[in-house]
Amino acid sequence: MHIKFISISIFLIFLIFAFTVDVDVFGGGSSGTDVSFWFYNWTGFDTGANISQIKDFEKFNSEGLLTQVLFDHHDTNGNFIKGLASNGTPIFKFNNSDEPRSVVIAGTHGNEYPSEAAAFKLINTLYDNKDKIKGTIYVIPLSNPKAALEVQREYFGYDPNRVANNSSTFSGHVVNEVVLKENISYVGDFHTMYDTRLKLIFAASGYPKSEKISKFITNKTNSEYFLSPNKGTITVTCAEHNLSSFTAEVEDGNNYGIILPNRDQWSYEQMLAYLDYTQNYVEDSNDFSNHDSSDILDMIL
Ligand SMILES: [Zn+2]
Repeated sequence: MHIKFISISIFLIFLIFAFTVDVDVFGGGSSGTDVSFWFYNWTGFDTGANISQIKDFEKFNSEGLLTQVLFDHHDTNGNFIKGLASNGTPIFKFNNSDEPRSVVIAGTHGNEYPSEAAAFKLINTLYDNKDKIKGTIYVIPLSNPKAALEVQREYFGYDPNRVANNSSTFSGHVVNEVVLKENISYVGDFHTMYDTRLKLIFAASGYPKSEKISKFITNKTNSEYFLSPNKGTITVTCAEHNLSSFTAEVEDGNNYGIILPNRDQWSYEQMLAYLDYTQNYVEDSNDFSNHDSSDILDMIL
């Protein structure tokens, strides 16, 4: 019995390490906010990819977005983040205190680059403003690096944002292994879409917490408000767990694997409005109402 018990214990410990590998901890300092990141390499779901091979990878790094994080890790060549994504789904954690707890998810559909680039920009902003962070913020900039590299919406044989209520799927793992396991209360899933409207916020229909947060972000970013009819989305699945969840979309002109002008900025502003709602991170000047998009529209049409 004892040997069997010990064997099972060792196996369980091995399982814990197999699922979660805390790669590194850095940052922190006097601000009291610790920054860490790790990767998830879910059994049966190899999401890792060398994202430096992404055609427009440099756009992810426009304005030196990743520079500060990389410099602080003593790697000026970007090998750290590239290598990190090679190991699986990279997850960044900014931890100041326990509550509130929120997650920013991008790249559920790997081919939707604007939101993925926006998430990298957000990581850099949070890193540069660690002292303003309250609670705990998780950022998943590339939910599936391999799908991003291959410019794929569907992966592992399905649309990941229709099966998140199935724990055996890749997106179901995001909900179960990250959102629920880390006791996260707020869930923002960031996408792009082909639509006549430029910015949309989807709420889970019939879930007051989801509708409330969605309306706030809608108003703050001049987006349009919609109720999602789709079961199995990350938003509806999390709403079913009584969480404050929403889906944010920016228009992509039916272009995938590229970033049209301003799309990453719009997605980024949706992210900031979200963290304003959760009170995880409030910028000094976090008012987008003076952003006139009419000149941008002229450029597109
Ligand atoms: Zn999408």
